[in-house]
Amino acid sequence: MTALPLAVVGASAAGLAAAEALRRFGWTGPLTLIGDETHLPYDRPPLSKQLLHGTWEAERLLLRSAEQLDPLGLDLRLGTRATGLDAATRTLTLDGGEQLRCAGVIIATGVAARTLPGAAHIDGVRTLRTLDDALALRARMTGGGRRLVVVGNGVLGCEAAAVARELGHEVTLVGRDPVPMSRAVGPGVGALLADEHRARGVRLLTGAVDGFETAPGSTDEGARLTGVRLADGGLLPADTVLLAIGSEPAVGWLRDEPALDTSDGLRCDAYCAAAPGIYAAGDVARWDHPVHGAPLRFEHRMNATEQGMAAARNLLAELAAEAPESAADDTPAQERRPFAPVPYFWSDQYGIKLQAYGLTAGADQVETTVIDRAAHRTVALYGRDGTATGVLAAGLPPRQVRALRALVATPLPWEEARERVKDATATATG
Ligand code: NAP
Repeated sequence: MTALPLAVVGASAAGLAAAEALRRFGWTGPLTLIGDETHLPYDRPPLSKQLLHGTWEAERLLLRSAEQLDPLGLDLRLGTRATGLDAATRTLTLDGGEQLRCAGVIIATGVAARTLPGAAHIDGVRTLRTLDDALALRARMTGGGRRLVVVGNGVLGCEAAAVARELGHEVTLVGRDPVPMSRAVGPGVGALLADEHRARGVRLLTGAVDGFETAPGSTDEGARLTGVRLADGGLLPADTVLLAIGSEPAVGWLRDEPALDTSDGLRCDAYCAAAPGIYAAGDVARWDHPVHGAPLRFEHRMNATEQGMAAARNLLAELAAEAPESAADDTPAQERRPFAPVPYFWSDQYGIKLQAYGLTAGADQVETTVIDRAAHRTVALYGRDGTATGVLAAGLPPRQVRALRALVATPLPWEEARERVKDATATATG
């Protein structure tokens, strides 16, 4: 049995799924899980929903308790950052300077929230990526009465704006897209979301924020926020700002390794391999999706778990093929498989749950059908180059949502997909 460990870098949903799958698929050797946050692995989707709202406490977000992690026999390094990787020798450098030679590595470092210059020193300007971010924002919003500007009208900005309104704050949502989430879900569903946000009292603005206003006498170390500046010269008064302006893949620590392509996340092949013995999973991984063709990177929860498992299985298969005799004791014989999920994401805003399968962004054709406006029952079909690529449902029962998912599991000509959507929605209304 080899003495070298397998290491998973990133202890969030994808990293945890990878570590658990390595054990489940038969790895009995040493297994190191490295995470830069000090918390046990936790779930991120509730951060901008139940946690921010105050309906859930932090403990409820834990994906596993310490007792549940115990049987995995992990060398768990929380509060530890990987700072470099030598791909040829599969050697990680950790922030204390330790060199960790590995039999294989799975990279699941996720993404970090984008910010704007000057934000770090202004009290009241926040991002929302980690549990600590969410707890800090929640503490600031306890009690209502804040004048909040949410910058960025993507999915995070929309969810946080909805929660902030429910908590009674004055909320302005400003973003580059003409209607909320239009890049992800198209103009039709975006317009429905815009109506709902407005009806709930959110002020919607189209524009870009390029700076902050602070009170006179503020210093670089600690400035008091009074508002945000828009690129067109306008000013929005605010005592709290949430920057929800997208994210950057956490690949800075890999940039010195010429064997890896880190131009937009970590580039992988269809098996989630970035280099021999080096795999990636979750928000950070950009891989060749066998059905959708182009290299894709998904910042969605379901993908994190599915890709973590796929990367684990494929890494073990590669190790078994590399050294069949030495691996025989602790790796099961198996074939590598291309990772070909049906992408999925959901979003909760007020009482509306959006569920989308396949590819909805980047469509050149979108057909949105509002089945029942008051009940927010809506279906949208997305296509590219004459092929249906994605579908979105709001307010439909699970059975119909599953039927819609089946529509985009394999590519279908647009017209055929349209007919099938009509059938599904006819059943939904009947
Ligand atoms: P996003 O979907 O990329 O949206 C960010 C939006 O902000 C973009 O429209 C962006 O426009 C805009 N923007 C950038 N700079 C701006 C500026 N200076 N002024 C105004 N608008 C600006 O990212 P996000 O909504 O921030 O989400 C962050 C991460 O959280 C993602 O990983 C997301 O998947 C995750 N998340 C997911 C869910 C869910 O799946 N339900 C919920 C919450 C969070 P440009 O693209 O033109 O820069």
